[in-house]
Amino acid sequence: MKALFVASECAPFVKTGGLADVIGALPKSLSDLDCDVRVMLPGYPALKSVADAGETRLRIDNLFGGPARVISARAEGLNLLLLDAPHLFDRSGSIYLDDSGQDWHDNHLRFGALCQVAAKIAIEGIDGWKPDLVNAHDWQAGLVPAYLKQHDGPTPPCVLTIHNIAFQGVFDAGILGILGLSQGLYTSEGMEYYGKLSFLKAGIAFSDQITTVSPTYARELMTPEFGMGLEGIIQARRNDVTGILNGIDLDTWNPETDHTLPATYSRRSLKGKGICREEIERRFGLKHDPQAPIFCVVSRLTEQKGLDLLLQALPALVDRGARLVVLGSGERYLEDGFIGAAHRYAGSVGTIIGYDEPLSHLMQGGSDAILIPSRFEPCGLTQLYGLRYGTIPVVARTGGLADTVIDANAAAIAADCATGVQFAPITATSLAQAIDRTCTLFQQSGEWSKMMRRAMKHPVGWGQSAHSYLDLYGAAIDAHGA
Ligand code: ADP
Repeated sequence: MKALFVASECAPFVKTGGLADVIGALPKSLSDLDCDVRVMLPGYPALKSVADAGETRLRIDNLFGGPARVISARAEGLNLLLLDAPHLFDRSGSIYLDDSGQDWHDNHLRFGALCQVAAKIAIEGIDGWKPDLVNAHDWQAGLVPAYLKQHDGPTPPCVLTIHNIAFQGVFDAGILGILGLSQGLYTSEGMEYYGKLSFLKAGIAFSDQITTVSPTYARELMTPEFGMGLEGIIQARRNDVTGILNGIDLDTWNPETDHTLPATYSRRSLKGKGICREEIERRFGLKHDPQAPIFCVVSRLTEQKGLDLLLQALPALVDRGARLVVLGSGERYLEDGFIGAAHRYAGSVGTIIGYDEPLSHLMQGGSDAILIPSRFEPCGLTQLYGLRYGTIPVVARTGGLADTVIDANAAAIAADCATGVQFAPITATSLAQAIDRTCTLFQQSGEWSKMMRRAMKHPVGWGQSAHSYLDLYGAAIDAHGA
């Protein structure tokens, strides 16, 4: 089978969140199952050296105001198709935001262009390669099925994967003609959204199948609390919605071989984890104390991630004798809140504001537990890294967090299957109780190390989920051709 992935991020080249990890890893697992995946991405500056080593396969004289070409290249085990359009993508800084922190004024053109060219490749093929199916990811790829829909002639089917419904790509309806989309698609059952044009709604309306990144989030998306205004159309398509859990790249995230760590370790020998722990104490200015658990946060600092709740629960954490280390960036009040906490509780709390991939590995390697109090979490990856690194996830019971962590309640402990701590409702009080429960478990060192080893054994790779994607692709192709 041949599949074309269309996305706006891909690790390790360009990443703002979990979407990039998925696009960097899933194609490799699919290719192990004989699925030939090409990943289509914008030709950002971060991909320049990859593009320079590639071959031009398609030229477009004028793509929304400038020339463009599609370059085929191979890097990091992936077959890439890069849309080189300097007037749209050759910009420094964030891939989504300008220097003042606003969305780029022409994001509709940038990602509309990506979708239009992806649809052309899906229909016509490129350099003798023609996909059997397209998998479009998130709003930035949401118009691919719209362009396919308006094509007069056969097209491959399209699966849309929703990684986070909070980001929808909503623009003035006036862009419809500019993007070369037909008026017939702009209906309330189609891409119209309260008088505007929604890329994500177009994807939901016109794709053959819709997937999201966990079974619980798939159910949650149909409710007003989580659907963010799109619950109606998702309910209307409920028979075509599937939740498939994300996996992680087991080579990149492997405590036995992770050379970003000061020492590696395994389930059989956890000694190296102690060395990583001391390195965290040093980096974050904490006192050395093997008896006091270290909780970590590696996250975007946003409302979604519930980190305001953690600021409220922090006095209880410190009173309990535990420590906290935070790596993240995002909303100013949260950055300031954690910087302030590091001053107030110097020696017990440490904060580093920024994005630092190697440090994120050390956080997983050297912490005892990872806190993820998200208000919603489509899948979440950091709890999966936590499991793999024996860093016990303490998570809100929502979305993919609910699906991947087994709470250490009495029954789970008796059955020897607990891998972490879950809490609900998602409030500061309930988070503080979960932290307290985790500290109690940490003090029961025999139970704690059993739980660590069990967590490290928990399957977090792509194996099962890659099979699920492939089955779904096969069914979409059969139904599309029928
Ligand atoms: P989301 O996509 O909502 O941000 P996920 O848990 O799915 O959340 O994925 C977040 C990814 O980004 C993980 O790979 C995590 O390690 C990484 N990450 C988040 N913040 C940072 C940071 N400050 N430094 C390094 N990596 C980070």
